[in-house]
Amino acid sequence: MTHSLANLQSELIAAEIDVLRVIYADIIGTIRSKDLLVSELDKIHHGGPTFCQGVWVTTTQGGVLDGADVLSNGLEDFVTQIVPETWRALPWEPGVAYVVAGANNPDMTPNELAPRTLLERMVNEYKAIGLVPVAGPELEFYIADVNDDGTYRRAINPTGRVYTSGATVDPKGTFLHLLRMLDRLRIGVFAGNHEFSPSQYEINIWHSEALDACDRIWMLKAGVKDVIARLGQAATFAGKPWSDEGGSGFHLHLSVESPTGENLMHDASAPDGLSATARHMIAGIMEHAPALVAICNPTVNAFRRLGPDTLAPYRANWGLDNRSAMVRIPPERGGGTRLEIRLGDGAANAYLMTAALLAAGLDGIRRELEPPAAAVGYAYEDESRPVLPMTLGDALDALRADERLIELMGGPLVDVFEVMKRDEIERFTEVVGAELPDEVTEWEVKEYFLDL
Ligand code: GLU
Ligand code: MG
Ligand code: MG
Repeated sequence: MTHSLANLQSELIAAEIDVLRVIYADIIGTIRSKDLLVSELDKIHHGGPTFCQGVWVTTTQGGVLDGADVLSNGLEDFVTQIVPETWRALPWEPGVAYVVAGANNPDMTPNELAPRTLLERMVNEYKAIGLVPVAGPELEFYIADVNDDGTYRRAINPTGRVYTSGATVDPKGTFLHLLRMLDRLRIGVFAGNHEFSPSQYEINIWHSEALDACDRIWMLKAGVKDVIARLGQAATFAGKPWSDEGGSGFHLHLSVESPTGENLMHDASAPDGLSATARHMIAGIMEHAPALVAICNPTVNAFRRLGPDTLAPYRANWGLDNRSAMVRIPPERGGGTRLEIRLGDGAANAYLMTAALLAAGLDGIRRELEPPAAAVGYAYEDESRPVLPMTLGDALDALRADERLIELMGGPLVDVFEVMKRDEIERFTEVVGAELPDEVTEWEVKEYFLDL
């Protein structure tokens, strides 16, 4: 469907916006964008600006030309589809607004390589069986100062205690400023705190329908990076930017509701309060856990974060209010009954990760899978459950072996994802070697720090 953007143009002019920044997710999870002049917006007749499909095979460091083979169409155009209701004025940059975009092919069919297209399709699969997926993302990140030689150091060090605010964790008011800017962006930010490691923070936004939640988290990520960059610093969502401090997680809370908004994860008659649907979703996520690692931890660096004693997962397990497990069931019941999937790190692509977790849950629902017993106590040592893949290469092997998940996610997208990630491993191996050294390498910093 094509439509004119004239109505959006009028709204933006009334709000004194002259530049519209169209943002969308590529496959590796970087924010791609184009600035459109609002004065010319009504002349765009296909829903958004056009890009080369080569963006799907572009790394943070350049193109993966071999990967172009998997695009059988000779790198045609794709046409972004602006989602008009997502526009938000940037409080730190008067006159500029973000708007989120999806992607179509030139013939206006949905572009199946676009992560947002996949999430939309997955949400529709749930809706077709009367379930509305709801997502609540939690993102951790670091704020760093930039050294003269372009390297980074933690802005607050060594002070910084978890769950504190003020003098020790935000002496210059940087985080407070960021929080206020994000409030005015109107993406549903409601709280923020300092995390377990110095200079590491978390910002919370309200849960909502999965696609809307991912659109808002996409703007949150862009906003955090922009606001901090304006202060001459850098923000990173990379999973493990420092060898000597904790990783940054991207926990995703997931539930399903009826079309009238009733939580369908709760069953008061079950001893653990979980419905059959909730159990099936947990079971699906357990069954596909090894493959999900690749999507939720899609960098060489991510595997520094996963492991025992980290508050990040190590085994494919789940537990009732258990933070040492991969899936925690928070204690709330009734309308707040949900899964907290703790697998992902901040570098994961929000759309792909949410879609993959929903796909695994859907497989569990369709096949009425039952989960293994819930982990009790310190789950890192519970050998009844398998250890997750512990390198990106092993995780990609697990993804390739998971035919059911690939079918649900779409073969072409998984193919391109794998090409990109194998290229990343190859480039890392060439410079650093086959093993991940103890210290975070310059290669990782260059590849991930600023872009993810
Ligand atoms: N930073 C931890 C992680 O890597 C999570 C800490 C928390 O539970 O807030 O997942
Ligand atoms: Mg946290
Ligand atoms: Mg959490």
